[in-house]
Amino acid sequence: MRDSIWAPDYKAEPYWWTAAPRPVLAPAPLPDQCDVAIVGGGFTGLAAAIELARNGRMVALMDAEDAGWGCSTRNGGQVSSSIKPSFAELRRRHGAQVAFRIRSEGLNALAWIGHFIEREGIDCDFARTGRLHAAHTPSAYHALVREAENQPKGLEIDAHVVPRAELRDEIGTDLYCGGLVYAAHALLHPGKFHRGLVQKAQEAGASLITHCAVTVIDRDATGFRLRTSRGVMRAREVIVATNGYTTPVTPSLRRRIIPIGSYIIATEPLPADLAKQLIPKNRAVSDTRKVIFYYRLSEDRQRLLFGGRVAAKETDPKISARRLHRQMTRIFPQLAPIRISRSWGGFIAYTFDALPHLGRQADGMHYCMGYCGSGVSLAPYFGTRLAQQLLGKPEGHTALDGLAFQTRPFYTGKPWFLPAAIAYYRLRDRWPF
Ligand SMILES: Cc1cc2nc3c(=O)[nH]c(=O)nc-3n(C[C@H](O)[C@H](O)[C@H](O)COP(=O)(O)OP(=O)(O)OC[C@H]3O[C@@H](n4cnc5c(N)ncnc54)[C@H](O)[C@@H]3O)c2cc1C
Repeated sequence: MRDSIWAPDYKAEPYWWTAAPRPVLAPAPLPDQCDVAIVGGGFTGLAAAIELARNGRMVALMDAEDAGWGCSTRNGGQVSSSIKPSFAELRRRHGAQVAFRIRSEGLNALAWIGHFIEREGIDCDFARTGRLHAAHTPSAYHALVREAENQPKGLEIDAHVVPRAELRDEIGTDLYCGGLVYAAHALLHPGKFHRGLVQKAQEAGASLITHCAVTVIDRDATGFRLRTSRGVMRAREVIVATNGYTTPVTPSLRRRIIPIGSYIIATEPLPADLAKQLIPKNRAVSDTRKVIFYYRLSEDRQRLLFGGRVAAKETDPKISARRLHRQMTRIFPQLAPIRISRSWGGFIAYTFDALPHLGRQADGMHYCMGYCGSGVSLAPYFGTRLAQQLLGKPEGHTALDGLAFQTRPFYTGKPWFLPAAIAYYRLRDRWPF
């Protein structure tokens, strides 16, 4: 590929960090003790910190890097109802009642995040643009039509089918066979949303301690003793909010999380008429492939942000950028002369049952993670709910509390099976039916 795909201002960092740079927090001392220690400074950890600190708990939140260094400022900013398994699949596994309650949590999270952003006055370009889910084969299209027509009673959402003949009203390509628009889905600027959460957590009185890796967590008679790169701290309770960045510090959680790299590129600014032609209604877009592509315009509608999983093994952003550029121009040939201004990646956390998990381990540690690539609404929603559980508030209970958090024999957190699984799904994605 030609080297001219790089814009003069190319940087291997998230596009979002330009408008919302990583916060430089005043160096906070590590307290000797606190009520709740939170490991991880993304959406989950911060949402929990806000709820706990506002209710009088002394909270110390630690991140090994800058606040928001993980997925929370690297994602696509697509906000959806986010529970991956279908109602039918969940009913098969858990029965109709539990399935209904689990699917409802996705809708709750979507409604919750809109209210939360409005109530807190967080300036993060939140907009209910709707999401186009585009079918990559005729059979995927028919499955979407069936999905829209047979929504489970009580879980109905505003979704309308877009046949192939009308697709050009939604998207500037003829590659798809039709689609489904979910009207209530939204877009936000993840960097600004994260910055808003940092500010709210600080205002509530939580201590945010960055560049502080938690290296050992021991249980004792009165609570926990955390060894960190900045000293030792005692805590009555611990919340682990490390999602796709979970390390051997919490080995039993690491065995339950499958970290998967996902990558995004941002184009250089596009001519206004071209940007409008790509996604005329400014929707979020995803497709029905198993190894999906997801994309959107930037908040100022000047650039295309195009994401997907492009490598079976983890790769650096310059390599992923070339591959994403190739896929982007396959969908939108009109973008061939457009260059790449940003390229980055991050680790999402998949789970063996494709559901998020929150609860308390046998050793007393709380956890909240495993959003399977859809944590923009789920992470702050479940982070808040978990904090409410610690506070003894009834509204903290969720359909996912304490759901068996599966692992597999001999799995220790390194997904050796991923390249084979991805190769298989890629092959399936190529089947024309
Ligand atoms: C490229 C990409 C695109 C995505 N797009 C979307 C999207 O469009 N929509 C959507 O809903 N979701 C999306 N996601 C997923 C979403 O971003 C995540 O689900 C969500 O941000 C998870 O937040 P979190 O707070 O749980 O974890 P993170 O934000 O990942 O935070 C975990 C933090 O834990 C810290 N940590 C780990 N171990 C330790 C330790 N021992 N001590 C101290 N700190 C530690 C890490 O440094 C990290 O900052 C995307 C993810 C990626 C990577």
